Amino acid sequence: MRLRALLIGLFVLFGASAQAFATSEVRSVRLWRAPDNTRLVFDLSGPVQHNVFTLSAPDRIVIDVSGGRLATSFDQLSLSNTPITSVRSAQRSANELRVVIDLSRAVSPKSFSLAPNQQYGHRLVLDLFDQGADAAPGPSVAAPTPPRPVTPSQPPSKLPVLPSDKRDIIIAIDAGHGGEDPGAIGPKGVREKNVVLQISRELQRQINAEKGFRAELVRTGDYFIPLRRRTEIARKQGADLFVSIHADAAPRAAAFGASVFALSDGGATSETARWLADSENRSDLIGGAGNVTLDDKDRMLAGVLLDLSMTATLSSSLNVGQKVLGNMGRITPLHKRRVEQAGFMVLKSPDIPSILVETGFISNPNEASKLQTKAHQQALARAVQSGVKQFFEQNPPPGTYIAWMRDSGKIAQGPREHRVTSGESLALIAQRYQVSLAVLRSANNLRSDVIKVGQILIVPATTLAAQP
Ligand SMILES: [Zn+2]
Repeated sequence: MRLRALLIGLFVLFGASAQAFATSEVRSVRLWRAPDNTRLVFDLSGPVQHNVFTLSAPDRIVIDVSGGRLATSFDQLSLSNTPITSVRSAQRSANELRVVIDLSRAVSPKSFSLAPNQQYGHRLVLDLFDQGADAAPGPSVAAPTPPRPVTPSQPPSKLPVLPSDKRDIIIAIDAGHGGEDPGAIGPKGVREKNVVLQISRELQRQINAEKGFRAELVRTGDYFIPLRRRTEIARKQGADLFVSIHADAAPRAAAFGASVFALSDGGATSETARWLADSENRSDLIGGAGNVTLDDKDRMLAGVLLDLSMTATLSSSLNVGQKVLGNMGRITPLHKRRVEQAGFMVLKSPDIPSILVETGFISNPNEASKLQTKAHQQALARAVQSGVKQFFEQNPPPGTYIAWMRDSGKIAQGPREHRVTSGESLALIAQRYQVSLAVLRSANNLRSDVIKVGQILIVPATTLAAQP
């Protein structure tokens, strides 16, 4: 027994050292430019050790890759819009490759290795953060910002956009994936990351055409953003709603239809939802190590924050999700008729209602080709925009132009419910909703005007025509 253990030990030792001295080829290099950083990804044939340091006058970054050998060229890299002026290399010895990145200005580098996944092999990632950009991550993940008050969701420091000081409702649109994370890949190589960015841009255009609304894109180009960072960007944009746009993939090519997800804190509501949640969350492992350092304290604090306001936020998310789904059902088949719930990381803002829209199955040849047409992208965006608008016309955040429109009776309404609070009279409620006392009485089968605190009243629809 002991001999056998010894032999295994020797084998492990030998195997490990053999691997440490094996050379790995740098087979290709990919580059993405984000608004505040540049990412270089070196695709490797095996794991390597590396060391990164910066030099100034002139500014440059040196990466020493032990066990590395260059098997590609850097000539094809598109460096426009980046602080990189050139990338060169030298084989310093059989065992050491040096890559030098010449810069037009100083940057803050961060590097890490990634293990193989379904799409790529071993990688060495170098992120160059623009200096002055607030996105450069420190050594540890920052503590989550404390939640804003739940009900009146107001952006942190928004300048008044309307002369009357009524602010816009802000929608953060998050196009899924990006950069080295292509998302789902459909027939003929169509990539989710590109399709969802096109739909997101169209959605932004449509929302911005609507008075009282403003849309911001979380991702504005072909680069990766870690999932947690996406919600941070939305918060910085002062989002009243977060909408993540995706396209599904399933092992079965026949699977089809759109779906809308809201967060479930207790896990997925169905096996499909769970499978999706995994594959979407996995995107962080594809894109980077940004969230790997999340420590226990952070996790606990995040948990407490979630509990504080998640209930209210989730009910809004389900409400807006159902409206979006209802509109989508008119223009495309639905995968599920109800809003599904899953543990998607991007939906975990405790204070911003958040939905994830799966626009269709990119793995289905028919839906994949539809998803790429301008007409279908416009129809999908219109469905999302309509659902969002309906939700906010019924639930406008205080201080917004839409709230002012609603309160001054300028928005046509479907039937609503009103819960009586203390101090309210039937006449006051009728006045507030711009309906006559008689209409309110008959809609609720009331024989007198006596109402009780907590009582639920049906407020019938009003129309613009009925307004003075
Ligand atoms: Zn996706």
